[in-house]
Amino acid sequence: MSEDPRRHLPAVDRLVREAAADPELAGVGRAVLVASARELLADARTDGQVPTAGWQAELKGRVRRALEPTLVPVINASGVVLHTNLGRAPLPEAAVAAIEAVSGYNTLEYDLAAGRRGSRQAHVRSLLRQVTGAEDAGVVTNAAAALYLLLNTLSAGGETIVSRGELVEIGGSFRIPEILARSGASLIAVGATNRTRLRDFELALSPRTRCALQVHRSNFSQIGFTEDVPLADLVTFMGTRDLPVVFDAGSGLLLDLSSYGLRGEPLIPSSVQTGATVVFSGDKLLGGPQAGIIAGPHSVLARAMENPLARALRPDKIVFAALEATLRLYLDPATALRKVPALAMLIADKTELEHRASVLRERIPGAHTEPGTSAVGGGAFAGTELPTTLVVVPTDHPDDLAERLRTAAPRPIITRTGEGKLLLDPRTVRPDEMDALVEGINASL
Ligand SMILES: *Cc1c(COP(=O)(O)O)cnc(C)c1O
Repeated sequence: MSEDPRRHLPAVDRLVREAAADPELAGVGRAVLVASARELLADARTDGQVPTAGWQAELKGRVRRALEPTLVPVINASGVVLHTNLGRAPLPEAAVAAIEAVSGYNTLEYDLAAGRRGSRQAHVRSLLRQVTGAEDAGVVTNAAAALYLLLNTLSAGGETIVSRGELVEIGGSFRIPEILARSGASLIAVGATNRTRLRDFELALSPRTRCALQVHRSNFSQIGFTEDVPLADLVTFMGTRDLPVVFDAGSGLLLDLSSYGLRGEPLIPSSVQTGATVVFSGDKLLGGPQAGIIAGPHSVLARAMENPLARALRPDKIVFAALEATLRLYLDPATALRKVPALAMLIADKTELEHRASVLRERIPGAHTEPGTSAVGGGAFAGTELPTTLVVVPTDHPDDLAERLRTAAPRPIITRTGEGKLLLDPRTVRPDEMDALVEGINASL
């Protein structure tokens, strides 16, 4: 019978004492050393293994890893523009500068002219009115929160009518029926999965009806025998009963991109124009920070922003600074298309992508290019595939290489694998990341 290695485990105290005396770990707090030592011993006890490099070397590695940040930048070579796992929209330079500028004291809730308290919403309200055409606007932490706030404000204790075809799950367990239940509103589902008519809403009206809700099907589409009530018709009909309509538009498209082949996503100014109260994200197609924007009639906004929940869902100075700077770019649409990275990546020119792919091909030995497609991501323009040029990196083990690139220091690289290939899509790689991308790939090959 072999001897149980667990009998030879060193004591925590001894490990910590030795690590504390190590000049390479000078300045590391005792709590970090103790936590890492306990974790190391617990793992050794579980798998019955003595670290091959020795206890102190293993402990040092763990301490270093514990001190490194985990929220770090990556190079996105996947071609998915609004990648939720990678932080969705990359911020415009102007937004980054604004964040830095307000990181100390600032006018978040201070009216300089009056010398007294101001409103944090004031920094974006008039910009949002201009770019959406809405009478009033407000901002909370994200679109899910905006929807929750609106339904709670308008409909708690009453009924909200929704088409059965729109009781969707957006992802990350955000489901419309559950949000409604949490907001205190009763869900009245009408119509069939594939077809809903205005008459269905009419029949569902009751003295307890408080509003109707429409939800954009952002991450799937229905084809075949289908029928939906146009938003404008629903707003007109509900208006005859003095009842508001909330429209969850999802991704916040402010500019018409149909001339670039991007269709099917509701344009926010058009949705606002119907008279609906429109909800959308700040970090999807709008291309700014995470935020939930509400744009619509003043009568609805005033009630929503006075709801005590709005206080619990309010964003901080970082978000307001980034959002204000991003919205300013939209005051000139041509500027927005160039300077909002999410938009610039979506409308990137075919020749430009081909050129960037060929630069990568030339600098990565053995690589070749092939035509392919990029995805918009973030549930925007569902099903749309954008033509691109992909770089095929030479490897017989794409999954292993993808893992090495993912875990590479200092800049992890996120790639795409499929059909036995490792692919790079230049669409989502910034020009100033090209060198690091090439170096990272060549070092891992
Ligand atoms: C993405 C999305 C949401 C959620 O937006 P968050 O800002 O992530 O909360 C809600 N509704 C629709 C239709 C969406 O596409």
